[in-house]
Amino acid sequence: MNASTSSRRALLTVGLLAAGSWPATPHAALAQRAADVRRAPAPRSARPPLVIISLDGFRWDYLDRGLTPNLSRLAARGVRARALVPAFPTKTFPNHYTLVTGLQPEHHGIVDNVMRDPATGAWFRINDSAAVRDARWWGGEPLWATAARQGVLSATVFWPGSEAPIGGVRPTQWLPYDGRMPNSARTTQVVDWLDLPPDARPDVVLLYFSLTDDAGHRFGPDSPQLDSAVSSVDAEIGELLEVLDSHGLGAARLNVVVVSDHGMAAVDTSRVVVLDDYLDPQVVRLVDAGPLLTLDPASGFADSVARALGRIPHLSAFRREETPARWHYRDIPRIPAFVGVAEGGWQVVPRAPLRQRPQGFIGGSHGFDNADAAMHGILVAAGPAFRRGAVVEALGNVHVYELLCRAAGLRPGPNDGSPDSVRAFFPSRQPSAVSRRRGVR
Ligand code: AMP
Ligand code: ZN
Ligand code: ZN
Repeated sequence: MNASTSSRRALLTVGLLAAGSWPATPHAALAQRAADVRRAPAPRSARPPLVIISLDGFRWDYLDRGLTPNLSRLAARGVRARALVPAFPTKTFPNHYTLVTGLQPEHHGIVDNVMRDPATGAWFRINDSAAVRDARWWGGEPLWATAARQGVLSATVFWPGSEAPIGGVRPTQWLPYDGRMPNSARTTQVVDWLDLPPDARPDVVLLYFSLTDDAGHRFGPDSPQLDSAVSSVDAEIGELLEVLDSHGLGAARLNVVVVSDHGMAAVDTSRVVVLDDYLDPQVVRLVDAGPLLTLDPASGFADSVARALGRIPHLSAFRREETPARWHYRDIPRIPAFVGVAEGGWQVVPRAPLRQRPQGFIGGSHGFDNADAAMHGILVAAGPAFRRGAVVEALGNVHVYELLCRAAGLRPGPNDGSPDSVRAFFPSRQPSAVSRRRGVR
């Protein structure tokens, strides 16, 4: 966990107290709207909309805890992958942006939640809204830009990248990130957008919930609080689907894809290595620390830093140009000169934050090797575009953009995924009536 995580938690606590500015009973508002629309169903555009829901930090096995009746129902009438393997590093921003671009972080440029651009010396941090909105950090073509290129409208209730005019394009509708916005208000916003008249209705909608990540960090993946968070987001999805159904967007008229960006591993202070015991903080510029350790050495110290990193227990560290090929984590100078990953459940952190707030290192964390099953997330897809009742093998999240484009009827931009990797999600093409008559296969 890093400084941004703890300030985010502080914000969240304040946010809960200040939540009075949101409608007190958004579900009542949803129900009322459902009743109104039942009376006067709106005409629909021909294309079934695609709703993509991200459940931050939702580990693959949370679906097997008996807490998610709505997600289970969705999987039963659609497709569930055994797991969704995140890109490296297993952090929120790189993975959300891989999900919507099909690019490895080394190709889309969001190489961590915290980054420094060596050309300008500028820093990117996820709680720095000016940096987050600066298009220069964001490469590739996100799904909403793919949609715009083809005249398709889009809308986002939060998604990393959605606030920046990437290639001059933002989603048709988007909101500035506000972690305090209650989940029910987020789903109400989605319903409002999907209720727009056909010429204004977005056909690609993205929705983000952080609750499972927040509970996973604070209490750990095996805590009752995490279980409550899982139940809560499942209920929210159930409510959303029910209301959309009553608005004429039932199972046959709506494609839904639920994903997560990474999983969560239990951590505690008995498995912490203090960085300062091995490395003089004066000779490095630390970029990230915890499960993931990234840093640049001061000029002339590269070899001594390499030796010191090699001595740190429970850590595998590499020079950027020698990171494992399967990480695809080399190709951009924004990646610091040294990249280390702690063994599952371990953390490598500087002494100062550990002393100041040891509780910040207890609970759950992510950022470990993406081959570690604890880092794997979920992918559930259902609707008219998808097969029914299928379970498919684990796949890399770099392929999800191809899946989303196919479900939305969009031509994908160039990307690192492949359409073959997501073929199992779709019904095998039926021979057309003409070819059937002619006996052509
Ligand atoms: P982390 O667990 O540190 O990888 O990041 C998760 C946190 O990222 C969430 O709890 C949010 O506070 C934050 N976050 C998620 N989406 C956004 C966004 N679009 N803009 C700013 N912060 C975000
Ligand atoms: Zn995340
Ligand atoms: Zn997190």
